[in-house]
Amino acid sequence: MHRTLMTLSWFACAGLGSIPAAHSAPPPATDAATTTQLPRTVRPVHYDVRIVPDATAMKFNGRVGIAIDVLQPTTSITLNAVDLSFSRVILTKVSNAARYPAPSVQINPDEQSASFTFDRIVPRGRYHLALDYSGKIGTQAVGLFAIDYVSATGPKRALYTQFENSDARRVIPSWDEPAFRTTFALEAIVPSGEMAVSNMPIARQSNLGDGLTRVRFAQSPKMSTYLLFFGLGDFDRATLKVDGTELGVITQKGATAQAAFVLESSGSILREFNDYFGVGYPLPKLDNIAAPGSSQFFGAMENWGAIFTFEHAILLDPSISTQSDKQRAFQIAAHEMAHQWFGNLVTMRWWDDIWLNEGFASWMEARTTRRLHPEWNTALAAVRKREEAMDLDGFGTTHPVVQHVETVEQASQAFDAITYSKGEAVIGMLEGYVGAAAWRNGVRRYIQAHAYGNTESDDLWREIEKASGQPITAIAHEFTLQPGIPLIRADAACDAGHTALQLTQAEFSKDQPDKKPLAWRVPVIVQAIGAAAPVRELVTGGRAIVSVPGCAPVVVNAGQSGYYRTLYAPAHFQAIAGNFGALAAIDQLGLLSDSWALGLAGLQPVSDFLDLAVATSVDADPQIWGKIAAVFENIDEYYRGDEARRSAFRKFAMARLNPVFARVGWSARPEELDTVAILRNELIGILSALGDTAVIDEARRRHATQATDPTAVPAAQRKAILGVVARHADPSTWEQLHAAARAEKTAMVKDQLYSLLASTQDESLARRALDLALTPEPGETNSAEMVSRAAALHPDLAFDFGIVNIAVVNQKVDASSRSRYFPRLASRSADPAMIIKLKKYAAEHLAVGSRRDADTAVASIAYRLKVRQERLPVIDRWLAGVKG
Ligand SMILES: [Zn+2]
Repeated sequence: MHRTLMTLSWFACAGLGSIPAAHSAPPPATDAATTTQLPRTVRPVHYDVRIVPDATAMKFNGRVGIAIDVLQPTTSITLNAVDLSFSRVILTKVSNAARYPAPSVQINPDEQSASFTFDRIVPRGRYHLALDYSGKIGTQAVGLFAIDYVSATGPKRALYTQFENSDARRVIPSWDEPAFRTTFALEAIVPSGEMAVSNMPIARQSNLGDGLTRVRFAQSPKMSTYLLFFGLGDFDRATLKVDGTELGVITQKGATAQAAFVLESSGSILREFNDYFGVGYPLPKLDNIAAPGSSQFFGAMENWGAIFTFEHAILLDPSISTQSDKQRAFQIAAHEMAHQWFGNLVTMRWWDDIWLNEGFASWMEARTTRRLHPEWNTALAAVRKREEAMDLDGFGTTHPVVQHVETVEQASQAFDAITYSKGEAVIGMLEGYVGAAAWRNGVRRYIQAHAYGNTESDDLWREIEKASGQPITAIAHEFTLQPGIPLIRADAACDAGHTALQLTQAEFSKDQPDKKPLAWRVPVIVQAIGAAAPVRELVTGGRAIVSVPGCAPVVVNAGQSGYYRTLYAPAHFQAIAGNFGALAAIDQLGLLSDSWALGLAGLQPVSDFLDLAVATSVDADPQIWGKIAAVFENIDEYYRGDEARRSAFRKFAMARLNPVFARVGWSARPEELDTVAILRNELIGILSALGDTAVIDEARRRHATQATDPTAVPAAQRKAILGVVARHADPSTWEQLHAAARAEKTAMVKDQLYSLLASTQDESLARRALDLALTPEPGETNSAEMVSRAAALHPDLAFDFGIVNIAVVNQKVDASSRSRYFPRLASRSADPAMIIKLKKYAAEHLAVGSRRDADTAVASIAYRLKVRQERLPVIDRWLAGVKG
């Protein structure tokens, strides 16, 4: 799954149904080593499923025949089911076709299960369980859901499914846990003329008359329930044959050309992965299905053979898509395709190890992008992703990469930056430690040994150790079983032409400065500036002294593959900063990132970052300027509400960024780097946020003249220009954008225009956007996004609005993200009162075991208050010095 970015936190509503062990007796588990909610007395072997959707009535009928093995004599069979009504339950013994009298049916909403209790013992053996039932089609991306959208030929409705992590049970009564791998044969009765798609190709179809067609898909391999997929609509499909696999993209009618880049990219990615994993892609076809709309939880899902991707993450619309959209579409496709092996062919046993799926797919996505698109220079992106993880991992509310999961909510909450980005960073560090070839051989052994099976993290470490001959399990455990970020303190002394580099391991914490540090074995790579080769050391037992030839300043974490922060002694830092321009771009980015985070935490002067920003050359790597601009925007946010001090900072920030923007310009130049195209849009957005009137006026001018001047708003800048216009809109401009949103006939563009309406700086317009969000006008999946957008500039307003309308808002958020949605709205607040409001909210609406996101949002607000109080005065003094 590709999670929606900017995710920070969570909550759980009473209607969601899953309750942690603290509230209800833990479910009986015959295998004590496995966390589960279903008894292990029965095991499914195969499902024959028939779905008859009624898209108009928003409901469906289902019939499932499940081959099951009863492993221990029982009178009761329990499986997962949510919001399903059973009309017929028949149990038949396979060996003699003996049918059991109809059982009593108990629905257990809290446990998301249904139990069938028989009046006599069901002995061990193979049975057939036949169920007739009905269920609901939803409006958010959970279970079987409908997306309504505008199209050139009028309004349309399409159906899709989303089952990860635990929502197959909303469509098929099933043993809905990843360890229950079975085969599936799916059949659907659908309107003739619509396209039906699932994991496997269509095996046969027959016209039933009355405008209906029966579609039967080929039987799937043994797989987990969360990977099933069904889609139905007025679609087009384009295909490409690569290495014997039929690759396809499926879009709304007439849009396959916009998926051509992803289709073509999927071909090169498939070849790359067939080689890397050493096992060919095992299914006959692999589709990627584009759907209008959005989710607050995810952007794409790796259903085996039938990847689902929201249009905004796969289609490139020539009227609005940007270079970053293109790169993101490639990366998301690579991520979901990596899951076809890592996740689908080999699946984690339980959600405790979801990082194995997501960390690995994230790492593979980054690796593949670097290899197939070196011109994008995405190596530096790894540092940004690492920062995203460290942002969470520095709070006391963090969790280990491998974490114990009990409930459905906890499983949903596990899809966070620790799982994805820390997972990715730790894999990158370990690959660097054992070497790329040994790592790949270990991955191949792991895939071969566990194909069509379920695993835990140690199964991977075992194969990497065998392939590399290096004991990495201890290092891997320290980085995945304990939370937090190692801090490496570095000091250097030069004597007789050799530098003695002293490294001491501590722990970086944002809110627990006096915490006793955890211990890690840290693989460290250091390199003297100008040296040809790095020096490697495993910092063990808390310290190491590394001898480095020469007296040049030594950079720690050279190449930035390590998951730790580096705190240099002041003189050592000054020596490196004095040679900032001589560092590799990735180490410049690492130094900027560490000095900013350590500065905020009070571990080094926060002005060190500003000194580096001043020392950065105007022609530095565009991604370096992207980082500096993003921190400037961040500092500007810290000053919110204190306009006099803020304007002094803004003056400095604009003075630094304007010469860079002058080089980049408003329009693309022939032969420019792709990274420049991305920086252009970033600078337009951030300079406008800083109140740069020249940028704001020019964006407005271009927007106003676009009807008469076709060059005024190039497609690649359209989003950035619209973003500026919307942010600084007055009431009449806002109405103009509103009219454009209403009139728009392209679903993806329409979605974006509605979210722009909520991006306004003006509070009264933000209120209008919030009111508009809850009307039917923007479309079912745009409402939650509009409220989230408003929260970026008006967190307190958006949170309060959400609470007042909590019942309606919850209906507009997919169930998987409800437990994190409100904390996310609040997390950018700088009002101490919000801490109290959030705690109250958590106490009233969140199960005790599902409050981590709320706790993290509280911690980040408290941290923001501390930064405002303790660090901004330092920045004020530094700015006064710069001016003087
Ligand atoms: Zn994923």
